[in-house]
This record gives sequence, structure tokens and C-alpha cells, in this order.
Amino acid sequence: MDMALPPRIRKLEESVVNRIAAGEVIQRPASALKELLENSLDAGATVVSVIVKDGGLKLIQITDNGHGIRYEDLPILCERHTTSKITAFEDLQRVSTLGFRGEALASMTFVAHLTVTTMTEGQTHGYRASYKDGAMEGDPRPCAAVKGTQIMVENLFYNVTARRKSFKNPSDEYARVVDVISKYSIQNPKVGFSCKKFGDARADVQTPGNTSALEAIRAVYGPGTSRELIEIKTSKNDSSDSFEMNGYISSANYSAKRTTMILFINDRLVDCAPLKRAIEVVYAAVLPKASKPYIYMSIRLPSEHVDVNVHPTKKEVSFLNQESLIEAIQTAVEQELLQSNKSRTFYAQTSLEAAFLPQGQPRSQAENKSSQKAPVNKLVRTDSQSPAGRMHAFLASGAELKNDLTAMRRIVRQRRHSNDTSGSSSGSSAVERMLAAVDTETHSGLLEIIRHSTFIGMADDVLALIQHKTRLYLMNCLTLSKELMYQQALVRLRRLNALRLSNPAPVYDLIVMALDEEEQCGNYHATDGSKDGIAQVYCNQILKRAEFLRECFSIDIDDNGNVCTLPLIVEQHTPDMDRLPLFALHLSKSVDCDVEDECFEAVARALSEFYALHPPLLPRPSTNPPAVCAESNETEMDEDVGLEAESKWSQRDWTIQHVLFPAMKLLLKPPVRMATDGTALQVRGFAGIPRRFNFLILRKTIPRSLPLRLLLSLTKWKLNQGDLNKLKFNPFIYI
Ligand code: ADP
Ligand code: MG
Repeated sequence: MDMALPPRIRKLEESVVNRIAAGEVIQRPASALKELLENSLDAGATVVSVIVKDGGLKLIQITDNGHGIRYEDLPILCERHTTSKITAFEDLQRVSTLGFRGEALASMTFVAHLTVTTMTEGQTHGYRASYKDGAMEGDPRPCAAVKGTQIMVENLFYNVTARRKSFKNPSDEYARVVDVISKYSIQNPKVGFSCKKFGDARADVQTPGNTSALEAIRAVYGPGTSRELIEIKTSKNDSSDSFEMNGYISSANYSAKRTTMILFINDRLVDCAPLKRAIEVVYAAVLPKASKPYIYMSIRLPSEHVDVNVHPTKKEVSFLNQESLIEAIQTAVEQELLQSNKSRTFYAQTSLEAAFLPQGQPRSQAENKSSQKAPVNKLVRTDSQSPAGRMHAFLASGAELKNDLTAMRRIVRQRRHSNDTSGSSSGSSAVERMLAAVDTETHSGLLEIIRHSTFIGMADDVLALIQHKTRLYLMNCLTLSKELMYQQALVRLRRLNALRLSNPAPVYDLIVMALDEEEQCGNYHATDGSKDGIAQVYCNQILKRAEFLRECFSIDIDDNGNVCTLPLIVEQHTPDMDRLPLFALHLSKSVDCDVEDECFEAVARALSEFYALHPPLLPRPSTNPPAVCAESNETEMDEDVGLEAESKWSQRDWTIQHVLFPAMKLLLKPPVRMATDGTALQVRGFAGIPRRFNFLILRKTIPRSLPLRLLLSLTKWKLNQGDLNKLKFNPFIYI
């Protein structure tokens, strides 16, 4: 029966097969142009001009002054796998030209009409030949020409209706063409490029040639961009892992909504999403405002380390030691930014605007979030005690951002010094007793571990992984930072520098906001009394202690009940302003003691709760860049909330590594309880386990107090490969 018979398998017509294959290499006009540009550069051209009609769909014409094509080679020029660049497979290993698979021109002839005019050195005339479906049509015709090659690609995708229809907007395609030429002109500043629309007199891209990369950037991206760029260079030269990178990155003054990333690896324009993200993270962490960077980088790797053939368009690359390269570049970018950013003002993005909402207006979670889009308040650092020392304190902190350890040592010296001069008259005997208690309660083993540890990375939102000798430990950043802030608030009592809020925040409103939040959490009931009444009582309590707060803790509350300054407890760290209302509430409760002595501890606790490195209130944006370099299709979630969240999280991650840990190494006296309450956990590591087992074995004696959630989150290993590479042995998780 007919029904039972399977359908016949037919071989597809070859031209159809070729057309499908061609469509993979030549995806759109810009990808055709990229291939043509690479060929011209391979031919040693110093001038390349491009004319485009209908975004390249009607015509792409490229003219170069390269070495041209031999007459004898014209008949096979457009056959698949014809190339002058390799002859044997081994050559693939060392080929250094841009294209080498002999596929580009052939592909174009299957989806467009191709005409080549060329003349080599020393000839009196050139030749013109047309190609279709991989073959030359007729013989080459002699014609007048100059040395070099001109290639015309007409009616791209004329025989692939679906593809052709997908290009609805020729001006989009033209923009992509311009983008490709712009980028190549930066990488090849010695070559003069031009690109214009057919019939236009004015070129849309024009570089002078014989110039520098920076000049080319100026010509193409404008002086506004080139002015704000910093040169960057780094390299590595291990036998198995070597590379060289140089380029330009934007400084703190540059601002843009989108990242411009121009990346060349061995002279090939490529995308590398993980690298792009890694750099964006550094920018978000180091620069106060979440401006997206401009990056131009040219990376050279031993060509045997690059595999360009993973993707038909060669746009996607994968290479050996990708993680370590990304990390090295990340470090270089960070250093340059910190250096260029020496004089930056201390900023903190705040949502204090919420404090000024009219009374009675509902403040939902969503509104709190959106209010963060409002103009940022700035915290300007001043010294409450000695106005003369103000400038000094300000500058010192910026200049020493680069070396956290030096900065911390300086703080310690300063502290000792001022202890010497002013004696130990820091406060009352109550504070001295508290500090003595801190000393006697210090866990010496934990102290030694923290002092001599290396920060590896964050294992989840609160746990950091550190290494001490050959051991690994998980450290709870929240409880550790809380303790550090508490101890430092007391140690530096009466000598705390002040952070000035650009907009003073009314205590009363802050407390009302906090009560609203408490209500949402079910901690406040109408029967407790009216919010206004409670807020008034609390507010008065704080005002009564205003002088005490100002003198001891540098919390300045003016006569109108506005918070004007907050203390700087640990250098380079400002608290998360989203938590200010809650702090006001805690503060009002902590000053509610008859004896001033008893207030010290309570205020220090309230401060430590506020200054601790809590996970930001906005959820962490998903951080799952594609594992290998992938074509970034520029569909970035450019929503403000996403940006805000990303910036908050990366700022916090950065602070934990560069501020919290260095400060803890020098200043923290970890109390005994931390050894058993889950703050510090030892993790078992074994040498010699293959790298692919990225697990940890937790010590069997997991404290009972460790929440199950944390245990579970540990199984989802979140450290990236770069962090893992820092480990001297391979970790193993077992739960
Ligand atoms: P590939 O670049 O991978 O070798 P192509 O299909 O892009 O393959 O080009 C095939 C060959 O045509 C090249 O190897 C080169 O010899 C020659 N060719 C192409 N474009 C030019 C040009 N603009 N100038 C000189 N030779 C060219
Ligand atoms: Mg080529």
C-alpha cells in the first residue's frame, strides 16, 4: 500500500545546498562587507572605499589598492575552498591572515551577483569577471583599471526570498555596515577608510589613514569620545598562557547608555560576551553612576590558541585560557579606572526622596524602587572635628583606593597616633569596658585566619569564600561586617569623620516610613497607637540626645530634626541609603535610656546594623552570560531598575572584596561565638581532584544554627571559573 511506503529520500539540488550554506556565512549585508574588508586588508590595501545602496541589499561595492588578483586565478576565485592563504591543514595552525577558508567569495556568488575588477602590479590593464553559483560566467574581460581590486555584490539574497524579506529596513542594515567599517578603521589606523551611500557626496565614515588608533577613534566616534579615553595595556607571557592586549577605555567622565565594545582578536572583529560583561561589572562597581563604557581592545594570542572556525561567520571565537585572560583584563581595567578616578567625590545613590513624599501617600515597595530613579543625593565627605583636615582626609582616601592595605594601615596609624596624643580619653569608662570585652572575647584562631586569608569570591549573596593556607572557609559577610562596624564605631568614638547628606533627611518622616514598613511586615498594629504620635515621641527622643549623637558618633541632627551627617565608620564605605528609615527607628529606640553610658552600645549596634553589607533590597539581576563567546544580539535589558540593581550589586561585591576584607584583616577582632554560629565555616578541600569537580566537601560538623537555605545555596556553586582559578587546589562540595 502506498500509505505504508516511506517517503522517498532525495538528494537536494546542489545549488540549493550551496545557497543554504552560503546563508550561514553571509547572514546580512554587513557580514558580506566584513569578509570583503578582511580580504582587502589581507591584500595589503592602504585605501579602502565602500559604496552602499539600499543598506547593501542592492549593492555593496568595495574598492582597494591592494595587490590585486592574478589573471590565472580568476576562473577559480569563487569556487568553494579556494584560497591563496592555506595549502595544507597544518597551515591552519599558523595562518595569520584574516580569512582563510576560501569560503566567503564563493558563498556570495550563491546568493548575489558578484563582479570583480582587478589589476596587479606592473600590468597595463585589468580584468573584469562575473560570477554565479561558484563559477565564473564567461571569460575575464580586459578593462581599464588601477592596481587593486574592486568587488561589487549586487542584489544580495535575490534568490532567497524569505531572507530578503526579513530585512525590512535598509537604514538598519546601513547602520550595521557603517558600524563594521568604523570598527575596522580603528583597528587599522594606517589604512584610510571611507563609506558612503550610493549617490551621496558626503562619506559617513572617513578616516585619514596613516594615523593612530586614538586619532581614528576621534575621526569616527568624535572628539567627545576620544577625549575621555584612557590607554590600556596588559600582557601575560607564560609558556602555556600568553597574550597581549592594548586599547582604550572610557574614563569616569564618559557617559553613555549602551556599551560600545570594539574587540579584535588577532585582527579579527569578534564578540566575546563574557569579556564584555566582565568589564561592565568593573565599571558598575568602580564608577559612581552606572554609565556604560566605551571599550576598544586589540588582543593578540598565539594563533594556535584561537579557534575561529567554531562559527561560520567567524564572529564567535573561543580560545584557550579564556577565563584567565578575562580576569587579567578585568584587573587591568580596574586599576586604570581607579587610577584615573583618584579625585572622585564620595557618592552614594540614595532613595531619600522617598522621605519627602507627602504624608499619607502610600509607599509601596514598587514606589520605593521607582523613587530611586529620582536624582541621586550625594554624600560629601567632611571632617566634623577638624575643618583643616578635611581636604586631607578627602584626598587621601581617593589616592589610596588603589591599595586597600596601605589605606588600612594608614587608618591604623592614624588611630594609634591620635590615641597617643589625646590619651585614651575617647569616651566613658563604659566604652572602655566594652572595648576590653571585645579584646577578651576575641577568638585567636579565627583572628589568625582572617588576618592571613586570601579573598576568593562570593559563594552566594552573603557567604564569601576565603583561603587560609591550604584551607577554605566560608565567611558570612553580613555578620562579619556588622561586627566590624560595631567595633569600629566604638574604637573611633568622638573621632569619626562625617559624611554630609546633600539633602538633610527629616527624622520624623524617616520614622513614619519605617513604621509603614514595619506595618507591612506585620510588626506594627493600629492598636500600638497612631503612627504620627509614635513618630513624634521617637523623634523627640532623638532630638533630646542630639548633642550626644553629634559629639560621639558624628550624627548631626539640626534643630529642625533633619539628619545632616552620618559617620564614616570604615574608609570608602557608605551605608545603603535604602536602610536609612529603619536606622532612624533603631536609633530612636537606642537612645531611650536614662544613663548616657548605656546608649553607647545601643547606638553602635544600630549603626552596625545600618552599615553592615546587607544584600541590596533590589534582587540581583541574573548573571548568566553565555558560556562561550556568543554573538551579543544587543537586546540588553536597558531598564533603569535593572541598571540600578546591577550597579548596587556590583558596588557591594566590590566593596566586600576591596573594602570589607582588607579592613577586617587589619581591624576586626572576631568574637568567640563566630566560630560556632555559622559565621565562619571550614570547607574541606582535597588536592588532586580533577578541576571539573567544582564541589566542596563541608566539614561534617556543620553547626546546627546554619540555616538550611544557606546549605542548599551552597550546592549551587556560584563562583566563576576565574575565581576558582585562584584556588591553589581543587575544591569539592559534599552535603
Ligand atoms: P579567504 O579570504 O578565506 O582566502 P575568500 O573567499 O574571502 O577566501 O577569498 C578567496 C581568495 O580571493 C583569497 O584567498 C584571495 O587570494 C583572493 N582575494 C579576495 N579578495 C581579494 C582582494 N580584495 N585583493 C586581492 N585578493 C583577493
Ligand atoms: Mg576572505
